[in-house]
Amino acid sequence: MDRNKPLRLIGLSSTEPEKQTKLTLNHLCQLPAQCPIEKCISTVFKDDMLQHLAQRHFRSNVKKHLQVAFNGERCTLVFDVSQLIGTQTICLGVLLYGGVRGKHSQLPGEREFCYHNRLKEDSGLESLKDYLPIMVLVKRTTFLCWALVDRKMESQEDLNGKQSKDLKQVKHLDFSNDTHPKCSEESIKRCDSGQKNNDLKTTTEAEQEEIMDSDILIIWTQSAPCIRPLHVAMTVFNSTLSVGRSAMRCVANSGQMYTEIGGKDLPKDRHSLLITQQELKEICGAEHHLHLELILHEPLE
Ligand SMILES: [Zn+2]
Repeated sequence: MDRNKPLRLIGLSSTEPEKQTKLTLNHLCQLPAQCPIEKCISTVFKDDMLQHLAQRHFRSNVKKHLQVAFNGERCTLVFDVSQLIGTQTICLGVLLYGGVRGKHSQLPGEREFCYHNRLKEDSGLESLKDYLPIMVLVKRTTFLCWALVDRKMESQEDLNGKQSKDLKQVKHLDFSNDTHPKCSEESIKRCDSGQKNNDLKTTTEAEQEEIMDSDILIIWTQSAPCIRPLHVAMTVFNSTLSVGRSAMRCVANSGQMYTEIGGKDLPKDRHSLLITQQELKEICGAEHHLHLELILHEPLE
């Protein structure tokens, strides 16, 4: 017996992971996607993202909202948390990923990492045609909204357009034969007698405040389609750099054949930096100004 030969388990050959196809520009989905910014009803083609953002959302001061970002280098955005409107998705700015600094031939558009940006001649942005636009998005929401959405469920796009057979087979759920009731008889009676409603009425002001405190801030990045995944280190901190919170996340839609987040959907866990109201108070204090540092990282092939 050859001891150096890897062991093969009989009958398990089909469980071997499929070799991931190396994406090229031709593999990327050609369909346009809905703009994630609240109240914007535009559907944007993959190469029009930068033009759309500049023309539609940052018309008054385009250059203030754009920032060139090279691999491993720090970019900083400062924003006033008190200016965030309700539960709306807001674009804080756009990072223009340029690959490795100093290597012009390595710009993402040049090396077919992403499509060239289609820019209008009078836009003043023609020099940015080979940079990959990445939106920095923020949304204030409640913890309950965040928790109730099943973001871990893979979307149809994640499955590369292939619907799972198992999902098709499930038509309804039948609990009538359940031998372990999920709810005790006592609690059923309590619900029936309307005690639940009475409980709600007696919610005190302190409890209301607690509900307000359950607000969270979600920060994520979302790029135009590109062939390989990008990572982003996101850190929020106060003006004296003494308090902060940090996370390493994936840039949504990077390295994906199909878009991961459709339209106004919340980002998935792997894209998001969450900041609770309590953390926000500790970081911002009375200033309300949050410093957000982003470092893009392109993994080696
Ligand atoms: Zn838009």
